Amino acid sequence: MASEIKTKKWDGEIPVHYLYTYGLAGEKFFRAVKEKGTFVATKCGKCNVTYVPPRIYCERCLAELGDYFDVGTKGVVETYTVLHESLEGKRLSRPEIVACVRIVGTDGGVIHRLSGVEPSAVKIGMKVEAIFAEPSKRTGSINDILHFRPI
Ligand SMILES: [Zn+2]
Repeated sequence: MASEIKTKKWDGEIPVHYLYTYGLAGEKFFRAVKEKGTFVATKCGKCNVTYVPPRIYCERCLAELGDYFDVGTKGVVETYTVLHESLEGKRLSRPEIVACVRIVGTDGGVIHRLSGVEPSAVKIGMKVEAIFAEPSKRTGSINDILHFRPI
Protein backbone atom coordinates (compact mmCIF):
# COMPACT_ATOMS: atom_id res chain seq x y z
CA MET A 1 0.00 0.00 0.00
CA ALA A 2 1.47 3.31 -1.06
CA SER A 3 1.62 6.04 1.52
CA GLU A 4 0.86 9.60 0.81
CA ILE A 5 3.10 12.29 2.15
CA LYS A 6 1.82 15.77 2.15
CA THR A 7 4.41 18.45 1.74
CA LYS A 8 4.27 22.12 2.38
CA LYS A 9 6.34 24.99 1.09
CA TRP A 10 6.85 28.56 1.94
CA ASP A 11 8.34 31.35 -0.11
CA GLY A 12 10.98 33.54 1.41
CA GLU A 13 14.66 34.09 1.79
CA ILE A 14 17.20 32.56 4.09
CA PRO A 15 20.15 34.88 4.67
CA VAL A 16 23.38 32.95 4.29
CA HIS A 17 26.72 34.55 4.90
CA TYR A 18 29.98 32.80 4.26
CA LEU A 19 33.64 33.48 4.04
CA TYR A 20 35.73 31.45 1.65
CA THR A 21 39.34 31.10 2.72
CA TYR A 22 42.26 30.05 0.57
CA GLY A 23 43.64 27.70 3.20
CA LEU A 24 47.21 27.72 4.50
CA ALA A 25 48.99 27.10 1.20
CA GLY A 26 46.59 29.23 -0.81
CA GLU A 27 47.19 32.10 1.60
CA LYS A 28 50.95 31.85 1.00
CA PHE A 29 50.41 31.66 -2.75
CA PHE A 30 48.16 34.71 -3.04
CA ARG A 31 50.17 36.70 -0.51
CA ALA A 32 53.26 36.17 -2.71
CA VAL A 33 51.25 37.22 -5.77
CA LYS A 34 49.94 40.34 -4.03
CA GLU A 35 53.02 41.46 -2.13
CA LYS A 36 55.87 40.29 -4.35
CA GLY A 37 54.39 39.65 -7.79
CA THR A 38 55.73 36.11 -7.90
CA PHE A 39 54.70 32.50 -7.41
CA VAL A 40 55.67 30.22 -4.54
CA ALA A 41 55.82 26.45 -4.35
CA THR A 42 56.30 23.58 -1.96
CA LYS A 43 58.31 20.47 -2.76
CA CYS A 44 58.21 16.86 -1.66
CA GLY A 45 61.82 15.72 -1.68
CA LYS A 46 60.83 12.08 -1.34
CA CYS A 47 58.63 12.14 -4.47
CA ASN A 48 60.59 14.91 -6.17
CA VAL A 49 57.41 16.81 -6.97
CA THR A 50 57.21 20.60 -6.80
CA TYR A 51 53.69 21.91 -6.30
CA VAL A 52 52.44 25.19 -7.76
CA PRO A 53 50.15 26.36 -6.34
CA PRO A 54 51.75 25.03 -3.16
CA ARG A 55 50.24 22.23 -1.10
CA ILE A 56 50.50 21.63 2.64
CA TYR A 57 50.96 17.93 2.03
CA CYS A 58 52.24 15.74 -0.79
CA GLU A 59 49.39 14.35 -2.86
CA ARG A 60 51.42 11.20 -3.55
CA CYS A 61 52.88 10.21 -0.17
CA LEU A 62 50.97 12.55 2.17
CA ALA A 63 54.17 13.98 3.67
CA GLU A 64 53.75 17.36 5.32
CA LEU A 65 55.18 20.17 3.20
CA GLY A 66 56.01 23.48 4.76
CA ASP A 67 58.93 25.20 3.11
CA TYR A 68 57.58 27.75 0.66
CA PHE A 69 59.98 29.07 -1.93
CA ASP A 70 59.90 31.51 -4.82
CA VAL A 71 59.76 29.87 -8.26
CA GLY A 72 59.52 33.05 -10.30
CA THR A 73 57.01 34.02 -12.93
CA LYS A 74 58.21 32.27 -16.06
CA GLY A 75 56.60 29.19 -17.52
CA VAL A 76 55.83 27.10 -20.53
CA VAL A 77 52.46 26.69 -22.25
CA GLU A 78 51.36 23.18 -21.34
CA THR A 79 48.04 23.42 -23.16
CA TYR A 80 45.60 26.13 -24.20
CA THR A 81 42.21 26.88 -25.65
CA VAL A 82 40.87 29.74 -27.74
CA LEU A 83 37.66 31.39 -26.59
CA HIS A 84 35.33 32.91 -29.16
CA GLU A 85 32.44 33.62 -26.79
CA SER A 86 32.16 35.28 -23.39
CA LEU A 87 30.84 33.43 -20.35
CA GLU A 88 27.46 34.94 -21.23
CA GLY A 89 27.59 33.38 -24.68
CA LYS A 90 28.24 36.61 -26.57
CA ARG A 91 30.64 36.59 -29.49
CA LEU A 92 33.96 38.22 -28.52
CA SER A 93 35.27 40.96 -30.79
CA ARG A 94 38.69 39.29 -30.54
CA PRO A 95 39.28 35.68 -29.53
CA GLU A 96 40.95 35.19 -26.16
CA ILE A 97 43.48 32.52 -25.28
CA VAL A 98 43.42 30.72 -21.95
CA ALA A 99 46.52 28.69 -21.23
CA CYS A 100 47.69 26.24 -18.62
CA VAL A 101 51.22 27.42 -17.90
CA ARG A 102 53.67 25.09 -16.14
CA ILE A 103 55.99 27.21 -14.05
CA VAL A 104 59.64 26.53 -14.90
CA GLY A 105 61.30 24.07 -12.53
CA THR A 106 58.01 22.86 -11.08
CA ASP A 107 55.37 20.24 -11.72
CA GLY A 108 52.51 22.67 -11.32
CA GLY A 109 51.12 25.68 -12.99
CA VAL A 110 48.60 28.41 -13.37
CA ILE A 111 45.66 28.68 -15.74
CA HIS A 112 45.15 32.21 -17.01
CA ARG A 113 44.75 34.41 -20.07
CA LEU A 114 47.58 34.50 -22.60
CA SER A 115 48.01 37.80 -24.43
CA GLY A 116 50.47 39.24 -26.89
CA VAL A 117 50.17 36.38 -29.35
CA GLU A 118 47.62 35.53 -32.01
CA PRO A 119 45.69 32.29 -31.50
CA SER A 120 47.19 30.86 -34.69
CA ALA A 121 50.71 31.46 -33.34
CA VAL A 122 50.33 29.83 -29.90
CA LYS A 123 52.42 26.72 -29.49
CA ILE A 124 52.59 24.14 -26.74
CA GLY A 125 56.01 24.63 -25.19
CA MET A 126 55.99 28.39 -25.83
CA LYS A 127 57.90 30.29 -23.13
CA VAL A 128 55.79 32.86 -21.31
CA GLU A 129 55.86 35.04 -18.21
CA ALA A 130 53.16 36.32 -15.88
CA ILE A 131 52.27 39.98 -15.93
CA PHE A 132 50.85 41.36 -12.69
CA ALA A 133 48.68 44.36 -11.87
CA GLU A 134 50.38 47.38 -10.35
CA PRO A 135 51.20 46.62 -6.69
CA SER A 136 48.75 49.24 -5.40
CA LYS A 137 45.92 47.61 -7.34
CA ARG A 138 46.49 44.04 -6.17
CA THR A 139 43.92 42.51 -3.85
CA GLY A 140 45.30 39.02 -3.30
CA SER A 141 43.23 37.28 -5.96
CA ILE A 142 43.83 35.48 -9.23
CA ASN A 143 43.00 38.78 -10.94
CA ASP A 144 46.24 40.24 -9.60
CA ILE A 145 47.69 38.31 -12.52
CA LEU A 146 46.68 40.25 -15.62
CA HIS A 147 47.79 37.61 -18.10
CA PHE A 148 50.78 35.67 -19.37
CA ARG A 149 52.70 36.85 -22.41
CA PRO A 150 55.39 35.30 -24.63
CA ILE A 151 59.04 35.98 -23.80
ZN1 LIG B 1 55.67 12.90 -1.61
